[in-house]
Amino acid sequence: MGNRRVSAYRIRKGQPYDVRQAARALGVSKPTVRRWTKEGLVAIEGVFPPIFRGVDIKDFVRRRAESRKQPCGPGRIFCFRCKSPKAPALGEVDFYAEGPMLGRLVGFCPDCLATLIRRTSRAKLTAAAGNLKVTFKPAESRLAGTFEPGCNVNSEGD
Ligand SMILES: [Zn+2]
Repeated sequence: MGNRRVSAYRIRKGQPYDVRQAARALGVSKPTVRRWTKEGLVAIEGVFPPIFRGVDIKDFVRRRAESRKQPCGPGRIFCFRCKSPKAPALGEVDFYAEGPMLGRLVGFCPDCLATLIRRTSRAKLTAAAGNLKVTFKPAESRLAGTFEPGCNVNSEGD
């Protein structure tokens, strides 16, 4: 179901949404909304449980759709700033494990230096990373700063 098209037309820009309300308005599950917070959906800072601004939900859904229109080939990660797939700078990425099956490749855009993130599974890691040099990071490593969501090229965990 991860590749189903999501529409944000029922989201109002000026309205706040909690996870349940956002899920209902978007027609997705609550776990999906929670997962999106790890993929770049911005919640209002310092509030828990998370509350999202309508405008941020719309922005995330739009960017997510854009990345899906341009699936990334091996060794490419979508840059949201450049709006195109990029070969990470220096040909290097880090792999951050997220449990035994999943993880994310993290690199930097060679053109704008934005952080590039591509979610993948260990099984598809080779296909996703292509010829990139991959450094494996411990599961508990935290990334510094904020980052953008990456490509989800048919590698959804659900
Ligand atoms: Zn870029």
